[in-house]
Amino acid sequence: MDCSEIEKKLIFYIEGSLLLTETEKISSHLKSCNRCNELVYSLNKSFSIIEDQKLLKPSQFLYTKIATKLQNENDEVYYYRRRILQPILVICIAVLALIGGIKIGSIYKSALTTEMASISIYYWNDMSQEPIESKILKGE
Ligand SMILES: [Zn+2]
Repeated sequence: MDCSEIEKKLIFYIEGSLLLTETEKISSHLKSCNRCNELVYSLNKSFSIIEDQKLLKPSQFLYTKIATKLQNENDEVYYYRRRILQPILVICIAVLALIGGIKIGSIYKSALTTEMASISIYYWNDMSQEPIESKILKGE
């Protein structure tokens, strides 16, 4: 067997799933080939890391910690919205309403004052409406 054939079967060699004759051939090749030996070493190292990761078990408080952290983040977002953004929004709306009210009031007031002025002058100067009074005043 040459190195490329050995490389293809090294994983199965490490797992121990090869036939005995193939295992013996690979073992004899590994005794004489440094390159394939290094490959076996790196594969074994990788498999051991993977096995170590499989052995890791999460802490029994992992769910509680994650849920608490998520709740705290939600609380921070809630606090930010409730305590900072909402008052700013309310103040902005109140200021806009106040400015709009002043604008509408000034427009309505200017129209109303000219109209009211002509009406009030008409009622204050009602001599033309009261012919009897004007006759008495004039002494007729
Ligand atoms: Zn080799």
